[in-house]
Amino acid sequence: MRALTATLTATLTATLSPVADLVWPAHCAGCGRPGAVCCAPCRRALRAGARADLPDGTPVHGCAPHDGPARQVLLAVKDRGRAEARPALADALAHRLAALAPRVALVPVPTRAASRRARGGDLVADLAARAAATARRRGHDVDVERCLRLVRRVRDQTDLDARGRRANVHGAFTLTGPPPDRPCLVLDDVVTTTATAAEAVRALRAGGARVEGVLTVTIA
Ligand SMILES: [Zn+2]
Repeated sequence: MRALTATLTATLTATLSPVADLVWPAHCAGCGRPGAVCCAPCRRALRAGARADLPDGTPVHGCAPHDGPARQVLLAVKDRGRAEARPALADALAHRLAALAPRVALVPVPTRAASRRARGGDLVADLAARAAATARRRGHDVDVERCLRLVRRVRDQTDLDARGRRANVHGAFTLTGPPPDRPCLVLDDVVTTTATAAEAVRALRAGGARVEGVLTVTIA
């Protein structure tokens, strides 16, 4: 019964959140409750922690698994224009950073031009800047180095399987200049098959960067 209730709640939240976004502006991006942009329980969900590894063993550190309220907040920001919930994601990233590396450069994964147009800018770079600013306010020495760029067009990954995604991003990134002079964490908003993150790590290391891992809001 409890599992059924949880499933129903999740389904209702997923169904109603887009509607609620239009009707009631002041409600939680994660659960739809009226009040805060991101309520305390949803902020806690964004700090649940998640871990994965790239095929070469490089660690992927997530703020939370890609489900429940954490997934809803991220999707609200990415796909439903809830830009006012970005600070909640940045706060979760800064929280995760604090446990990882006090002195690090965040390297945002480059965003496709189509995604930038759809989201009114580069979401991952924006989250990197916000997370670094929050981490610095908390006494950590965190920089952002936008040193990766796309060297060719890549397509939307959504309907590609793991193999298709690897082929889609293979050789797609390169360094724009010298590598950062400090340890790096690749930053992305969600890691699913790890293809994009692995390619970003590969490109950085090929350029001489010291990559310690990947940081992401959610891990699917
Ligand atoms: Zn909530």
